Amino acid sequence: MLSSEQKAIWRKRLKSPTALFFLSALVTWPILTKLEAFEVFYEFSRTHESWEIDEIALLVINLTIALGASVWYKSRKLKRISEVRESERERAEQNARHDPLTGLINRRAFYEILEQASFAGVASDAAQFVGLVDLDRFKPVNDVHGHAAGDFALCTVADRLREEVGHGGHVARLGGDEFVILFAPEMNAADVERAARRILWNVAEPVPFDGLSILVGASIGLVQWDSALGLSEMMRRADHALYQVKFSGRGCFAWYDCDADQQALERAEIATELKSAVQNDIITPFYQPIVNIGTGELVGFEVLARWIHPTRGNIPPFTFISIAEDNGLIGKLGVSLLRQACVDAANWPEALSISFNVSPIQFRDAALVESTKNVLNETGFQPERLTIEITESSVIDDVNVARPKIEAFKALGIQIALDDFGTGYSSLSCLRSLPFDRIKIDRSFVTDISTHQQNQQIVSGILSLAKGLDLDVTAEGIETSDDLAYLQGSSCSLGQGFYFEKPIPADQISWLLETEWAEHRVLLPPAVKAVG
Ligand code: C2E
Ligand code: MG
Ligand code: MG
Repeated sequence: MLSSEQKAIWRKRLKSPTALFFLSALVTWPILTKLEAFEVFYEFSRTHESWEIDEIALLVINLTIALGASVWYKSRKLKRISEVRESERERAEQNARHDPLTGLINRRAFYEILEQASFAGVASDAAQFVGLVDLDRFKPVNDVHGHAAGDFALCTVADRLREEVGHGGHVARLGGDEFVILFAPEMNAADVERAARRILWNVAEPVPFDGLSILVGASIGLVQWDSALGLSEMMRRADHALYQVKFSGRGCFAWYDCDADQQALERAEIATELKSAVQNDIITPFYQPIVNIGTGELVGFEVLARWIHPTRGNIPPFTFISIAEDNGLIGKLGVSLLRQACVDAANWPEALSISFNVSPIQFRDAALVESTKNVLNETGFQPERLTIEITESSVIDDVNVARPKIEAFKALGIQIALDDFGTGYSSLSCLRSLPFDRIKIDRSFVTDISTHQQNQQIVSGILSLAKGLDLDVTAEGIETSDDLAYLQGSSCSLGQGFYFEKPIPADQISWLLETEWAEHRVLLPPAVKAVG
């Protein structure tokens, strides 16, 4: 028996031109004999002796045979090369359509399937559903247990998804820890929800790896596949649904919500305009009077940011401030507003102060004290006329981080007010341990206080607390003379609200100071009841 190597050597030898020549001669000799070709050649050569035709003929025959053999050999070789190329092409095609780690189809293949499903869906008028799956807590798996563990977890999740999706559906890995499912065409929305619940449950099952128990979870955004919208829009919607889940706590599924999407799109549009609005001081301070409710004296103004947009109208501060925070613009916005407010207030009587809001994220900015100081230096506004309003959420996370900042403000001569008191944690230890000058009772406890017994109790409690801690109190949201009358005579010294004035732009302040507030006083109703 010949070994495989020997066989290969013989195969090579047999394919050499010499061997092929002899072989082809062996094959063609009897054929030529049969056809009496030699007699023909003999006769021809005899009659054309001078031509030495027999040698020429023999040469031609041999050359023809050698050429034929060579062509046959070459064609076989070419065939083999094209077979190899074909199989390489198939392998490349397979790789181009599959995720090498999990073996699932990839984004490209999934999109092709979606396109086909869209044709089928249009034809059958049946709804089909897509689910975008993103793993929760996957990054720590890689970070803590290493990439081998991460890869294993991904493969396990892929298997679990494949199993759940079954024959009629498709599952693909889009990349990283993101997967996508096209549910089977016969599944309705309720079936899809049930499947989504099972997927969440199965994916959350521990993944055993190398004696470890790896824990990941999943969030799923669901959307009904609508071919009219096109692929990228559908995937964007699924992504939005997924984002909603991630935002609201993970580990569950959510359907695409058109209203929430519109809001998110609007926020994105506002975010793109916000930068230039901040740079160009388009967002301006409005001012709401703060009044001594015992004497009617005007003591100052709260600075409230206003963005009056040419097409969107008045964009509320709650909207653009959170967008500014999300986009890293809150620091610049704060500086722009404070500078404008200091320039405006520098023209008012010195007795009038301004109260400036600082959001929790703004408060975390390490440069806040420095930038405030710079604005004061730049504008020449006295720090003693400035109060910074912060909310409890600014300080509750870490009182020890908040304290040096508050102390730094106080060292500059700036006062600190705790805004919206009562709506947050109302932490007494925070009140005791931080050097606040004033608390502002949230308007939800003040508006309608004259008729609302529970609010009366709460406000009374806050007032006695503030008195005990020697803090000033401002009541926000005084809307009626009854509310004001109720608070008068109490230990609440300051108030603000629509009863006195709504927030107004800077150019109305001088008019206001010259007319109805000329004496820095408003006409107050007689006190009806005292609290606190
Ligand atoms: P805030 O600091 O508690 O401001 C008081 C809010 O109550 C203001 O709303 C004011 O217009 C409103 N208000 C005042 N009196 C009354 C009243 O009698 N009735 C009613 N219904 N509302 C009254 P605004 O201007 O929409 O501001 C909302 C919040 O946005 C502010 O709450 C503050 O937290 C934030 N904010 C406003 N301007 C700025 C700013 O320049 N920077 C920062 N970081 N936050 C700001
Ligand atoms: Mg405020
Ligand atoms: Mg407030």
